[in-house]
Amino acid sequence: MAEKGVGLASEQEAREVAEAAREETWENRSLARGIFDGRVALDLVHPHPEPDPEEQERAREFLGRLTEFARDHIDGDRIDEEGWVPEEVLDGLRELGCFGIKIGREYGGLGFSQLTYNRALSVVASRCGSTGAFLSAHQSIGVPQPLLMFGTEDQKKAYLPRLAAGALSAFALTEPDAGSDPANMTTTAVPTEDGEAFLLNGEKLWCTNGPRAELLVVMARTPAREGVRGKRPITAFIVETDWPGVDVLHTCSFMGLKGLSNGVLTFENVRVPKENILWGEGRGLKLALITLNTGRLSLPSFCAAAGKGCLEVSRWWGSERVQWGAPIGKHGAIAEKIGSMAATTFAMDSVVELTSAMADAKRFDIRLEAAIAKLWNTERAWEIVDDAVQIRGGRGYETAASLAGRGERPIPVERWMRDLRINLIFEGSSEIMRLFIAREAVDHHLEVAGDLVDPRAPAGRRVSAALRAGLYYLWWYPTRWLGWGHWPRYGEFGPLATHMRFVNRASRKLARNLFYAMVRYGAGLERRQAVLGRVVEIGSELFVMTASCVRAHKLVGERPEDRTPYELADLFCRKARIRVGELFRQLFSSVDAQTYRVASRALDGSYEWLESHVVSTMADVERRSHTHSAATPPASETAEPAGAGAGASA
Ligand SMILES: Cc1cc2nc3c(=O)[nH]c(=O)nc-3n(C[C@H](O)[C@H](O)[C@H](O)COP(=O)(O)OP(=O)(O)OC[C@H]3O[C@@H](n4cnc5c(N)ncnc54)[C@H](O)[C@@H]3O)c2cc1C
Repeated sequence: MAEKGVGLASEQEAREVAEAAREETWENRSLARGIFDGRVALDLVHPHPEPDPEEQERAREFLGRLTEFARDHIDGDRIDEEGWVPEEVLDGLRELGCFGIKIGREYGGLGFSQLTYNRALSVVASRCGSTGAFLSAHQSIGVPQPLLMFGTEDQKKAYLPRLAAGALSAFALTEPDAGSDPANMTTTAVPTEDGEAFLLNGEKLWCTNGPRAELLVVMARTPAREGVRGKRPITAFIVETDWPGVDVLHTCSFMGLKGLSNGVLTFENVRVPKENILWGEGRGLKLALITLNTGRLSLPSFCAAAGKGCLEVSRWWGSERVQWGAPIGKHGAIAEKIGSMAATTFAMDSVVELTSAMADAKRFDIRLEAAIAKLWNTERAWEIVDDAVQIRGGRGYETAASLAGRGERPIPVERWMRDLRINLIFEGSSEIMRLFIAREAVDHHLEVAGDLVDPRAPAGRRVSAALRAGLYYLWWYPTRWLGWGHWPRYGEFGPLATHMRFVNRASRKLARNLFYAMVRYGAGLERRQAVLGRVVEIGSELFVMTASCVRAHKLVGERPEDRTPYELADLFCRKARIRVGELFRQLFSSVDAQTYRVASRALDGSYEWLESHVVSTMADVERRSHTHSAATPPASETAEPAGAGAGASA
């Protein structure tokens, strides 16, 4: 890793790189974009988009076989204990066609939809998170996804049949200094003298599947040259791991997903033919981000599957376990958790079904919906598994092996919790998802008034932006007050109509508040992450409410005798409305500035005194790393008690 700050991209450079990699245009409509803009385009998703019946028929048979295989051959506890997904499991999945679920049949794949793919991942992940991650890293972000989207016909013919037949692949973007911020990427690919290939050099961190993969998609810096966009272009390459110069430097292990094969990969003068560039020189970062836009739909399905598992276990234990004279599920505090878990799981599932159907329909721009699904489902699943551990009490904290060892049912809630935590970090951390969603949510305002709030824009452009914005907002602002969000609108939703009316009103209120925020903070809004975070939370809740109501309406339409979807959607929406109300009340909270000040003081060491009377972890780690390298003597052994307010910073 670079020494702190040395050689790293500046904030401005990082922003420019991210901006250049954005998809600039919106060629298709987006439900979520409309929600942030005060316009709920319900016609996009109501009636709920339907899958192709012929494909669903084929899918039923495939999912049936996969469910049997997962039940009989994938042992999540054993994989967790041994830290290894056995080759027989991967072979079994290969035989079922699971390495090419979305790859077209003309290339040897199964040619299934995003919906079927997500359902298949849910089945596998419900048995073992690590095995689910194998399939997802291979297909959602590994070579097949960018190849299907951006590959030439020759590239597809060369690689898709191999991938569908079971050649494991991986996605290599992250580096020690390039985590959320790709501007710091240092892996390079330099053209050879004959111009026929590139020499790849560098190191990639945390590459899932990397140590066992046959094929990689690798992002690397290529030289700036005429005809290639950007000052420091990034290009994507398909790389074969048996080429000379590709190595696994280290195999990583983690808190959960113990069976994952993940490592640090190094590239030393790896000769990559120029035919292996995906989508063209300089387009690699955009490719990576667009790949993630659809790839992100897998994690929400894992999370919905986790919600279902937690609900099943909590429901059983809530009735089975009797304490204080009643089943624990009858005690209000536990009932509250179980009720919320059922309603939230329904909402998570609705998000997966809707976003998958939208992806399959291919007539929507789902970048915002996929990001919301990723952010929202991963955070809810974490809360749900926390509740499941609490409901199981001490047994929730005990490993499955230990439970079995003393004759109890080996319910792996402890493993689920460890496995789920990473979902809030990889494929776009929650913080980065909030920034991404906020950026896209304000996009059309920036199109209209961007130059007005950009301090670097020349005076002429600012004046014309002021005129343009004046005219635009003269029309836009009143229309965000007008609109009918009351009875009898949305009557077809029956008991849920009231919630759809709320979504309609709250969406307009959200758009107005976003406008106030822009007026209030101007260009500084992008630094108001707490405010933007709340804007994103509100928009996300409204999207999820819509997904839940639309799905409940569809399910009740299919089986009118069963009203339970209404019950779940209704409870979810009531709770979401309380959260949205609170978020609006706190939108411009004055505690934000104070919190930021305290964080700055914490960072500069002003509260170091608070860390006294414990053994210092940092000093200990430093001492141990010095001992390992047998180099310089250790720093201080313990954190010395310091006087309150001493503010002694290192
Ligand atoms: C198990 C595992 C599997 C992985 N698999 C892959 C893979 O297959 N391929 C691959 O390329 N990568 C992979 N990764 C990397 C993963 O995508 C990164 O961990 C992730 O992008 C975050 O980067 P980072 O860990 O360096 O965190 P950092 O970028 O250092 O961020 C640290 C914290 O700061 C926050 N933060 C950063 N910037 C901002 C900001 N501007 N505003 C607010 N908050 C911010 C982050 O959200 C995070 O909470 C994997 C990681 C793990 C642990």
